[in-house]
Amino acid sequence: MSTRVAIIGAGCSGLTAIKCCLEEGLEPTCFEQSDGIGGLWRFTETVEEDRASIYKSVFTNTSKEMMCYSDFPMPENFPVFLHHSKILEYLHLYAEHFNLFKYIKFQTKVCSLKQHQDFATTGKWNIEIENKGKKDLGVFDAVFVCNGHYHEPYLPLDSFPGLENFKGRYIHSRFYKTWEDYQGKTVVVVGTGNSAGDISVELSHIAKQVFLSTRHGSWVVSRISHGGYPIDMTMSRRYTMGMRNFLPRYLAAKISEKVMSSWFHHTNLGLEPKFRLKHPVVNDYLPSQILQGSIIVKPGIESFTDTSVIFQDGTVANVDEVIFATGYSSTFPFLDNDIIHLNNNDVSLYKYVFPIYLEKPNLAFLGLVQPLGAIMPTVEIQARWAARVFKGAAKLPSVKKMESHCLKSKDKKNKWFGVGRTQVLQTHYIDYINDISREIGIHPNVIYLFISDPRLAWHVLFGPCTPYQLRLRGPGKWSGARNAILTQWDRTIKPTKTRILHENPKSWFSLKTVLVIGSLLTALWCSRARANAEQSGYLALPVYGTSWTRIFSMVRIN
Ligand code: NAP
Repeated sequence: MSTRVAIIGAGCSGLTAIKCCLEEGLEPTCFEQSDGIGGLWRFTETVEEDRASIYKSVFTNTSKEMMCYSDFPMPENFPVFLHHSKILEYLHLYAEHFNLFKYIKFQTKVCSLKQHQDFATTGKWNIEIENKGKKDLGVFDAVFVCNGHYHEPYLPLDSFPGLENFKGRYIHSRFYKTWEDYQGKTVVVVGTGNSAGDISVELSHIAKQVFLSTRHGSWVVSRISHGGYPIDMTMSRRYTMGMRNFLPRYLAAKISEKVMSSWFHHTNLGLEPKFRLKHPVVNDYLPSQILQGSIIVKPGIESFTDTSVIFQDGTVANVDEVIFATGYSSTFPFLDNDIIHLNNNDVSLYKYVFPIYLEKPNLAFLGLVQPLGAIMPTVEIQARWAARVFKGAAKLPSVKKMESHCLKSKDKKNKWFGVGRTQVLQTHYIDYINDISREIGIHPNVIYLFISDPRLAWHVLFGPCTPYQLRLRGPGKWSGARNAILTQWDRTIKPTKTRILHENPKSWFSLKTVLVIGSLLTALWCSRARANAEQSGYLALPVYGTSWTRIFSMVRIN
């Protein structure tokens, strides 16, 4: 009898979970409360209850080659960084290509997820669903939780004394859609995550003044790296990860910090973070808007009066609007509290996927992690692992081992990123996908690759760590992976080469040319020297210099 798997949510995690179930021979049913796929990438003009909401101008901050699913590159004409509508288009292409739609029940909300009364023996789950007001029950062998964790706004009102007296308007960034209401206003944006960065920059073009209030600061990096290449493609590489893990942490942290602060002096712009390796904000315009004075960076908020904000440095600003871009709380309203314990977004999950203390390894959470990299390949590898565990083809270690792994990784994370609510889910991207790929035997074996396919090995080790690397071997191997890796730069450059020029003839004086000419000349000298040596009995090596060096260049042969 086949294993019935329930999938809660048809966003980027739920879609790949369906596909992974099918690949492992499981029987998926995906419940989606809205009438479309895409989760947070499905933009709506108004905020919908229990659904993530994004603003109109969101663009991705990871590039298309780094953020696609591992066996489905984005179309080559897609821009390098994508508007949310393009991501939704891509998700539709993915769902159509792998025929996933027929497994999704739309407008079906999961109201509760409970262990069956004989859970300890059967491992079954009872799911109560609601479709257009009609309730129903289903029984499943395993469950993927893919409901996203960006729909419950985090706004700790007690951190902002006097807010109740403030006569201006305040909202959480979840409710921000466009700039239109803010023309000519004085606005305070609270926070320095990506939402705060994007919103303050957008408003800085039309508001009278924008204040950006930050408690702990943040690194700000551009999407664009040297030569105009995407920053994640230049930074996220296996050999740099290897070096980082090899060096003493202090030194590696110093180097990473230097890299993150190389664009501009963060102290001068008031952004220097308190936690040294805090997750960076990706924003191409924030520094220039600060330099232009359209955004003024301020410390945290001390209190509110009816018309103004008093910052922690004692300065006061009269303001019309406040936007709290203070992040989100993970919630699972359908789940019993004793199944997972949420503590300020912190959940004890083995490798951010499996609850440690469940009797059966048949409940998996996808996307409850914040890697320093793209989320789509991250949730995909989580789903591939979990589907194999559900099938019984991969095993989880003992509770003791999982506990010890959680403690160790928490300790490591705290040392790297600092302790705080914003840092709870942070991980190094390549370390994390390596960790999971080893669980299911799909980790690329670089040494073997150097012997069998040196060109590919070079790209895998020294090139961007694109998701295709996770399809080179093992279960789920994809025959197109090698070619996808070798052509990743072509797809990156293609959409921007829209004005075709006659390329400047390449200078003949390149290192390659010098090496080739050098080798040819050496070969020529050697052959002539050998011919002379055969006549004279001495080999004259092609060494030039003073006459005594010439003497030492004469070597007796045979
Ligand atoms: P976030 O990354 O969780 O950032 C929340 C911010 O709120 C932090 O700067 C935090 O400051 C601040 N904060 C929290 N509690 C506070 C308090 N009591 N007082 C003052 N400040 C407080 O949230 P987000 O920016 O909404 O981002 C959510 C997720 O969406 C992230 O994964 C983000 O990368 C993603 N996102 C992506 C894009 C994009 O791709 N373009 C755009 C927006 C969001 P401290 O650091 O000082 O704690």
